[in-house]
Amino acid sequence: MTLPENNSRRGFLQRAGLGLLAAALPAPLAQGQTAPSTAKPAAGLPPGPAAAAESLRKLQAGNLRFQKGKLQHPDETLERRRDVAVKQAPFATVLACSDSRESPELLFDQGLGDLFVVRTAGHVLDNAVIGTLEFAVAELHVPLLVVMGHQRCGAIKATLDAVTTATLAPGQMEALVDAIRPALLLAQGEGDTRFTNVVKANVKVTIDRLQNSKLLSEAVAKQQLRIIGAYYQLDTGVAEFFA
Ligand SMILES: [Zn+2]
Repeated sequence: MTLPENNSRRGFLQRAGLGLLAAALPAPLAQGQTAPSTAKPAAGLPPGPAAAAESLRKLQAGNLRFQKGKLQHPDETLERRRDVAVKQAPFATVLACSDSRESPELLFDQGLGDLFVVRTAGHVLDNAVIGTLEFAVAELHVPLLVVMGHQRCGAIKATLDAVTTATLAPGQMEALVDAIRPALLLAQGEGDTRFTNVVKANVKVTIDRLQNSKLLSEAVAKQQLRIIGAYYQLDTGVAEFFA
C-alpha cells in the first residue's frame, strides 16, 4: 500500500483542490522543526505515555459501566454540544468494524467530542482510512489509537467461507476478503484457527500494516501515539485490550 509523499496540511489541501486555503497556510516546516501546537491537548495532557494511559483508563471505566448497565451517558448535554461545536479534542481514536453491535461511543459510554471513530467491515484499511487516522494524530493530537475486532464478525466469517469454498465474494467485498486473508494465515501459523483467534490475528495484522504509515510510526516512535488492540465480546459487552 503506497502513501502520499507529502503529508503536510498544505499538500493535503492542494491535493483536495483547496489551493487558496493552502496558500494562506504558513510554509511547511523544515525537517526536524517542530510545529507549534495550537490544539488543546486531548485528555488534558500533552500527547505522550501519560495521556495514552489516561485515555485507556477512561475507555476501560466506560466499558465497565456498559457491561454492568450503569451508563452515565457523559458529554451529551446541550452545553457539551455547544462546546464541541467550535472545537474538538477527542481523547482516543477507535478503528473498529462497521458491525451495528460494536458502536464505540456506546460500548465505552462516551459522548460528543470524546472519540474519533473510523469504521469499515473487519476494520480493513485503505488510503482514506489511513489518512483519517493520520489526521487524528497530526491535527487533533489524539494520544491513543485502538484497533477493535469483535465476536462473530461477519467480515471474518465471509473470508473464512471464501477461503474454505475457494469462491470469490461478490462485488467489492472480495477486497475485504483479500485484506483479511493474511489474518487467517497468521492464525494458522500460531496453530490456533478458532474464530476468536482469527479475529485477534486480524487486529494484529491491521496494527502491523499501520506501521507502513510514516506519520503514524514516527508518532509511535516519539511516544506521541500508542496503538493497542481490542477484542469486543458481543455476549458480555467486555472490551478486552491487548498489546
Ligand atoms: Zn465485524
